[in-house]
Amino acid sequence: MIRLDKYLADMGEGTRQEVKKQIRRGAVTVNGETVRSPERKVSEGDQVCLDGIEVAYAKMEYYMLNKPGGVVSATEDKRDRTVLDLIQDKKRKDLFPVGRLDRDTEGLLLITNDGELSHRLLSPRRHVDKTYYAEVDGRATEQTKKAFREGVDIGTREEPLVTMPADLEILEAGRDLSRVRLTIREGKFHQVKRMFHAQGMEVVYLKRESMGPLRLDESLKPGEYRPLTEEEIKRLK
Ligand code: URA
Repeated sequence: MIRLDKYLADMGEGTRQEVKKQIRRGAVTVNGETVRSPERKVSEGDQVCLDGIEVAYAKMEYYMLNKPGGVVSATEDKRDRTVLDLIQDKKRKDLFPVGRLDRDTEGLLLITNDGELSHRLLSPRRHVDKTYYAEVDGRATEQTKKAFREGVDIGTREEPLVTMPADLEILEAGRDLSRVRLTIREGKFHQVKRMFHAQGMEVVYLKRESMGPLRLDESLKPGEYRPLTEEEIKRLK
């Protein structure tokens, strides 16, 4: 049971003050009856309407976004568009991205308000696999594969930081450009870029393809998103 004003605010109908005004002016009905008191308690089974339009209750929301480049993985930013600005029909206001992709990285990003799930997926102890497609400006070789399998130092001289074993699949190796798929089990800051940098190569394009059991839906163009299916949610839990 939650207060009617909180219910409407949580569903993104306005700030607490704004929705209180709407309630007081008689714009809100609960199960067909006009309710003018913001403190009125409602529960999931109640039908709440604002100006005659139903405001359905969504406790948890889960979206798969194909993050485009140029957008930041944050809930708010003074200068740049955020991944949350791209989710148009969200009901909840408390959504956030699960982990971060760099501004120029594309691909799979889970957006939810399920804090527990996020915690589990990001926990350093869980080692959830993340697979990236990358293009790098040099020749990836068996030596690179071996180095990544054994762990590379992406730290500093004062503070070495050796990565956990990672799987590198070489899709195409050219002198100036290689296409690869890399699976890592951690999520250190700029990890993929730093791993290649440690091997004398720079990442020129990066896209996340999967995270744990969740795979990017290839029908989503950069900037597009869709709700997760029940099946996908179940697999994540
Ligand atoms: N590794 C990176 O370097 N950047 C990302 O956005 C994700 C992983």
